[in-house]
Amino acid sequence: MLFYYAKSFKASIMGSRLKEATCELCSFVYYYNLTRYGFGTATAHYGIGEEKAPQKAEEAARRDLQKRLEIEAELVPCPKCRWVGESLIVGYRRGRYRKWGRAAFFLGSLGIILSLLAAWIVPFCFPVDQTTILLILILGSVSSITLAMMVLALRGLLRRLIQPNRNYPDVTKLPRGVPDALLIDPTTGELEVARREKAFHEEDDPIVKWYDFQLGRNVMPDTCCVCLNPSDQDSSYRHSVLPAIKTAIPFCHKCAGSWKKRRFRLLFAVIATSTMLWFSFGGYFKQDNVISCCEMIILFVASPAAFAVVMLKFSAPYRIKLIDSPRAIIRLRFSNAEFVNVIKLYNDALL
Ligand SMILES: [Zn+2]
Ligand SMILES: [Zn+2]
Repeated sequence: MLFYYAKSFKASIMGSRLKEATCELCSFVYYYNLTRYGFGTATAHYGIGEEKAPQKAEEAARRDLQKRLEIEAELVPCPKCRWVGESLIVGYRRGRYRKWGRAAFFLGSLGIILSLLAAWIVPFCFPVDQTTILLILILGSVSSITLAMMVLALRGLLRRLIQPNRNYPDVTKLPRGVPDALLIDPTTGELEVARREKAFHEEDDPIVKWYDFQLGRNVMPDTCCVCLNPSDQDSSYRHSVLPAIKTAIPFCHKCAGSWKKRRFRLLFAVIATSTMLWFSFGGYFKQDNVISCCEMIILFVASPAAFAVVMLKFSAPYRIKLIDSPRAIIRLRFSNAEFVNVIKLYNDALL
C-alpha cells in the first residue's frame, strides 16, 4: 500500500514601488505608488526539506511580488486632463484574472494526462485497435487544449472590457482604492499629492461609513477602533484577509477585553439555550421517532452554531469585506463610525 504525506507552506509579501507615468494627451509627467502582494507556496513531500520549505515559499512570494511590481499598473488618471494612459490600462489588465492563466494550464495538462492514461488502460479492458487508441489520444488532447484556449480567450475578453477612457472627457468611475497621483515639487524636490481621487462611497453618501483600505499601502492608526484612545499592539485583533495575509485591527486593552467577554457571553447563551431545548424536547422527538437523528443534529447543533456565527459577525466592533483580492483591497466599517474618519485623516497625511 502506498502511503503519501506532504506539508504545504504559504507565504505572502507586500511591497510598493513608485511608478512614473507620462500622459499621452498632454505629456504631463506624474507619479503614483503601486502596491501589490506576492504569493508563494512550497511543499515538503514526505516531510523532506521541511526546514527549507518556508524559506522557499517566501522566495517564491518575493519573485511573484517583483514581477507584479514590474509589469502591473494602476489606473491613475492624468491630474491635468483626466486621461488614463494606454500603458497604465495594459498594466492594470495584467493584474486582473491572474489565476485564469494557471487554471487554463491545469485544464490543458490534466486533459492530456487523462487521455494518455485512457490510451494505456483501455486496451487492457476492451479489445480495441490502434486507430481507436490514436483517436482517444488526439481527441482527448485536442479538446483539453481547446478548453484551455477558451479560458484564455475569455480572460482576454474580460480584460479588454476594462476601458477607463470610454466616456472621456466625462469622469469615469475608477476602481476602488486607486492611489493618488503624485508630483515632484520643483522647489523642495519632494513628492506631493497632485490629485486625490474620490472613492465611490464619498460620492454616493456624504456620511462616510465604509473605508476602502489597500493592504500594504494604507496604514492603521495607533488608535482603538472602539473608544479612540491609544491602541495596544498586543490587544490588536489580527484578521485573516487572504492566504497568509492578515490585517491588524487596533484595539486598546480594555475594549479588546470587553469584546472577548461579549463573544464568550454570546456563545455561552447559545450553548445554554440549545442544551435546554435538547433536554426539553430532545427526548420527546427521539422517543416518538418524529424526526430523524440527522434532523435532531440540525435542530439542536447546526442551527444554534450558525446563529452564533451570524450573531458574532454582526456584534463585532468592525466589519471587513474583501472587495478586490488581486490588489488586496478591503472595505472597513466600524461600530464607532468616527473611526473611519480617523483612518482617513491619518492616511491622507501620509501621502
Ligand atoms: Zn494629461
Ligand atoms: Zn478602546
